[in-house]
Amino acid sequence: MSVLQKMKEGLIRFMAGRHGTDELSLALLIAGVLLSVLTSVTGFFPLYILGLAAYVLSIFRVLSRNTEKRYAENRKFVAAWQRLRTDLKQFINRVKNMRKYKYFKCPECGSRLRLPRKVGEVTVTCGKCHNAFKQKA
Ligand SMILES: [Zn+2]
Repeated sequence: MSVLQKMKEGLIRFMAGRHGTDELSLALLIAGVLLSVLTSVTGFFPLYILGLAAYVLSIFRVLSRNTEKRYAENRKFVAAWQRLRTDLKQFINRVKNMRKYKYFKCPECGSRLRLPRKVGEVTVTCGKCHNAFKQKA
């Protein structure tokens, strides 16, 4: 058996039963790299500590044997990340279309609604809670 083969099998034995990599540990690693770059650009020392914490947390998660807890954390992270992406996409969309539409929220449930600009005052019925109210656009 070659040295490389022995090292590979040793690593497989070492990682057996451990959580391994996932989206959250990868994100922590990327955050660590970004914070390191930011530290060297700004010279702001607390960013270095934060980056180091991100690296340590990432390594801890990869080597953790409490896989159930790590899966739960990762699920929460992925859901929050997708929410953030959706919110950002919707925000960009609103900014792009702000000349064509007036955006506002339903006073009852807070749903985001829109009306074409220059329609004057109209009665709007919310699609979610069916609340009807007057709105100028
Ligand atoms: Zn509503």
